[in-house]
Amino acid sequence: RGVVGGDALPDERMRRRRDEPAAPRAHDPARDDPPDVAPGSPTAVVVSVGRGRVDVLSSDGHTVVEALLPDDLAATQQTDVAVGDEVALTSVGGVPRVLAVSARRSVLARPDPANPHRLRVLAANIDVAVLVLSCRRPALRPGLADRFLVALADAGAAPLVVANKTDLLDAAERTSVDEALAPVAALGVPVVPASTHTGEGLDALAAAVRGRRAVLVGHSGVGKSSLLNALDPAGARVVGVGRTGDGKGRHTTTRSTLTRLPDGTEVVDTPGVRAFGLWRPDDDALRAAFPDVVRHAAACRFRDCSHVVEPDCGVRAAVDAGALAGSRLASWTRLIAERGD
Ligand code: GDP
Ligand code: ZN
Repeated sequence: RGVVGGDALPDERMRRRRDEPAAPRAHDPARDDPPDVAPGSPTAVVVSVGRGRVDVLSSDGHTVVEALLPDDLAATQQTDVAVGDEVALTSVGGVPRVLAVSARRSVLARPDPANPHRLRVLAANIDVAVLVLSCRRPALRPGLADRFLVALADAGAAPLVVANKTDLLDAAERTSVDEALAPVAALGVPVVPASTHTGEGLDALAAAVRGRRAVLVGHSGVGKSSLLNALDPAGARVVGVGRTGDGKGRHTTTRSTLTRLPDGTEVVDTPGVRAFGLWRPDDDALRAAFPDVVRHAAACRFRDCSHVVEPDCGVRAAVDAGALAGSRLASWTRLIAERGD
């Protein structure tokens, strides 16, 4: 098969929590000591979440410390406290402890496999969500970009697509990659052809994330770690994973982790999207992510046209006329089928 491969199933979902409390939830404030872990500031940022504890980066950006979670937060960790959350700290008997979690401005989440009604938050307070695709090895999966946009429809984070490993393409393959991603670019989503080997696109990526908090999403092997290294060539990053001295390296993690670069850019690296199983898109997110299909559907004879078999279908007519990419209709049809109603 050529450069362009099939689609696969991520289920990471970027969704703004509408039910967030407006103010931080205090935990037992009367009993706790005043914060003493991040002097000069009451908050720190969660860089990783473990069992009953989190690692937090102090507000000066230089110190990672472990803080214990109170029982109520420990019971709902990954939902109520996640990487990227801002927390207020206190100290109990000299041990740092999370006092409260601030309201979030954006959330990357997926349904909990064990409890579909509960969200597992992969990262909070994200500015830019970067979908990293590989042009080849592994083959390009343009359908993943369509899913990504559905997942982001409600997230509160700006999308960006990186097509990495352009160095592996000849001119004809390059054209077919451009064509495969053209429908995404046509939606106004920045598409950055890139190569960590030749340096193509790395300045554009750096400019898009500089000084902001970005999350890297993508299957294993597409080049997320390589891109993160390229953003921080001097290797000057503040430790972003685990506790210092626990002997576990960056590559052993199976959780989201946050890395802060010297210029203040923060990058959250998430586990491969493939691991999470099925995710059901909802109607509003689907429609928001497929304005092109929705627009052509206005010309369908039937209001509830599925754009598969009905006569006088405006969407299929648009594909036939070359006004809509067939891959977009294929993604739409596949996502509708997975919705499973
Ligand atoms: P991750 O699993 O998404 O973090 O991917 P890695 O960054 O570990 O990269 C997976 C493999 O792809 C490694 O062997 C990298 O050396 C290779 N790789 C990363 N970027 C590029 C690129 O731009 N071009 C080529 N040819 N290989 C790359
Ligand atoms: Zn139709």
